[in-house]
Amino acid sequence: MKEKPKVLIVDDKIENLVTLERIFSDMDVEFVRALSGNEALMHTLEHDFAIALLDVQMPEMDGFETVELMRQDKLTKHLPVIFVSAIYTEDYHKIRGIASGAVDFITKPIIPDILRGKVRVFLELYEYRLSLEEEIVRRAEAEEKIQEQYDEIQIHAHELEASNEELRNTQEKLIGLNREIQESEERYSDLFDNANDLIQSVDAEGKFVYVNTAWLNALGYDKGDLEHLKFADIMVQEELAPCLDLFERTMRGEQFNNVQITFVTKHGAEMCVEGNVGARIKNGEYVAARGIFRDITERIIAEEKQRELDAMKSEFISNVSHELRTPLRSLKGFTKLLVSGKVDDPKTQNEFLAIVDKESDRLGDLIDDLLDMSRLESGRFKINKEGISLKNIIHDAVERVGSLASEKGITITEEMNSELPEMEVDGKRMGQVITNLLSNAIKYNQENGSITVKSEVSNSDLLVQVSDRGIGISEDDIPQLFERFYRVEASDRIEGTGLGLHITRQIIEAHSGRIWIESKLGEGSTFSFTLPLRQN
Ligand code: ADP
Repeated sequence: MKEKPKVLIVDDKIENLVTLERIFSDMDVEFVRALSGNEALMHTLEHDFAIALLDVQMPEMDGFETVELMRQDKLTKHLPVIFVSAIYTEDYHKIRGIASGAVDFITKPIIPDILRGKVRVFLELYEYRLSLEEEIVRRAEAEEKIQEQYDEIQIHAHELEASNEELRNTQEKLIGLNREIQESEERYSDLFDNANDLIQSVDAEGKFVYVNTAWLNALGYDKGDLEHLKFADIMVQEELAPCLDLFERTMRGEQFNNVQITFVTKHGAEMCVEGNVGARIKNGEYVAARGIFRDITERIIAEEKQRELDAMKSEFISNVSHELRTPLRSLKGFTKLLVSGKVDDPKTQNEFLAIVDKESDRLGDLIDDLLDMSRLESGRFKINKEGISLKNIIHDAVERVGSLASEKGITITEEMNSELPEMEVDGKRMGQVITNLLSNAIKYNQENGSITVKSEVSNSDLLVQVSDRGIGISEDDIPQLFERFYRVEASDRIEGTGLGLHITRQIIEAHSGRIWIESKLGEGSTFSFTLPLRQN
């Protein structure tokens, strides 16, 4: 319960105190009586008063002295005091009273309403002071609480800061680790991506999980294609069953080295690869089959070429032996007959000697071809250029093959349209070229066929063409015709070594010229070559 405000009433006459109490009987206050200044001071030590009503004239210590003492004490310094006096009624008394620290000075007879009104003001002030003090206490408490909370928050903030710092450190460590992982990933993917080998990884369902750049480039697929592709889709059909078997065994943990597989590229070409296949293990399970392959298509094509070349070489050896033996046999036969003296007829003897002469030429030509071949292979093939007109060379070559042509009833027509200028060429080698083209035109011609040799200046070149109406050459054979030892199968029964055209092309190219063939099977062929008029 709220305490009533206390009012100190001080008077040495008890009846005055009673009068005062009566005046305030309707007010809710508690009176504390004092019969002297000393007693009044004693009370102020014990109680907190809203106001004091003091008589001035009292024995021992009068009202003025009492108030003056009150003003010196901290507790009572601000206690409002109203003097009530019947004797001290002069103005100077009042002035003295106010000077000693009182708030008012009332003279008797007291007008109760006025006194009550004045006291009420001080009671209100007192209430107001109390509520202010309460408010101050409340605020102080609240402030203290806030300070406590603030301190607590401060502690939390420190803790937070510490754990933040820890987090930051961990985060930095993580970033570092991440960077390291990323760098090592980059290193690996750089390694894989720049590897020349084809690297692939296929999951248990056969889908591609990873392929490197070399793989994509070699097979022509892009990354988007891989989403719909399974490894079985890029296998050549014939190898599918063994490949699926290999895959299943790999996923059971087997490792295969140097396996050969044929892939099919996006454009449908077959590509032979060789490499190692194994499984990737994760948590004790085989999760992917990885393969590292090398494209060996080229190697296989070399190998195939080498095989063809070897076959051609052995055929060449048997051809050469045959070519050597035929003229030798006829040389031997005719010389034997001549030596035996059984042939007396000089005309027959001359005929035999002409055959011996022709066969030795043939033998000599063949040996020349073989020597040229070996010179070409060893880089010792030489061209000796001199100023010459091709016209004479062509004419001489036609003369040289004349007897061979007439044996088959073949006619050779020379068409030299314009005066051919003199050129810097190797005359002997050019003679060899034209003789070779003419003798082929005879060899691969019909009985009583015809051959034309044309020669003209075309732009800054000299163009020479040898055309026949012979067996012709198929489109498939034309590109290989200039390769050494190459012979068309259909012309197997006709003697030859497959060297002539190879040597011919080398001679033309050594003169910065070009040679080519136009031919139709069964209709005949035209061999053309050009030589620049001004040789470098
Ligand atoms: P060889 O005549 O000794 O076989 P060549 O190198 O001169 O060698 O000719 C290579 C092949 O080209 C011949 O085997 C022949 O099949 C073909 N050939 C060359 N000239 C002609 C031609 N005029 N008509 C048809 N086939 C030809």
